[in-house]
Amino acid sequence: MRIFPKRAFANFLADSGILSVVSFIRGHHRDSLRVLCYHEINQEDVDAFEAQLLYYKSNYRLITLEQLLDILVNGKKDYGRCLAVTFDDGHKVNMSTAVPLLKKHAIPACFFLNTKPLSASDREHRDFSVKAHQREHEFVDADEIRALRDSGFEIGSHTHSHPAMPGIGIEEAEEELRRSKEILEGIIGDKVKFFAFPYGGKSSISRSVLKVVGKYYDAAFSTFRGFNTADSDLYCLYRDVMQPLWPLSTVRYYIEGGKDGRTKKKMASMRD
Ligand SMILES: [Zn+2]
Repeated sequence: MRIFPKRAFANFLADSGILSVVSFIRGHHRDSLRVLCYHEINQEDVDAFEAQLLYYKSNYRLITLEQLLDILVNGKKDYGRCLAVTFDDGHKVNMSTAVPLLKKHAIPACFFLNTKPLSASDREHRDFSVKAHQREHEFVDADEIRALRDSGFEIGSHTHSHPAMPGIGIEEAEEELRRSKEILEGIIGDKVKFFAFPYGGKSSISRSVLKVVGKYYDAAFSTFRGFNTADSDLYCLYRDVMQPLWPLSTVRYYIEGGKDGRTKKKMASMRD
């Protein structure tokens, strides 16, 4: 796992209160909206991940993506310091690690899932995983998706086959958006309103895909870091990739905006 390289500096910024002062000047001490993006939580991550959840619970209002959309679309005021928790890829291990902790602490979450593994043979499942995630993982099945939904979690799409979308034609990209939505809606018997771009950074989102994602979804999430506001692009909302083993000082550094400075530059270099 890649450890945050400037941890000492991050700890200093978080612990010294400098970030809190910057946050105060920007008004984020009152109202702020950030979305967190986790992937798999392995058994050895559970204690550190629970400490992060407890930190969020004591310092933030934890909301669903539906509530986040309501704040953004309806211009809600005085919504407080909010965080929404999301998980990408549908790693099966989360059913026995993250999910029990989320339930224990009554924390809402959205799971962004790929639909290709649902109908794949073991061999195809493995090939998909190695191609999309560089190594073999197991993913949730349809029964587990229904169980997540029945427990009150939100289900979102992460495409059918996890491509970097600028690398495929716009027609194929639309098919990834449409097909995954249709399959997930068939499983949960309800609308799938949210989408998360695979990888989610500047080389995996293109302006042409941003133009069509709204045909299928009410909101879409990148992995550009930042505070979401009423001015944010609903189809390219900011999200922070988090690591479960990060200490709380690193977590604070990110969610108080310590790494937001490069976002504009990264977004400007997005492909057409
Ligand atoms: Zn992914």
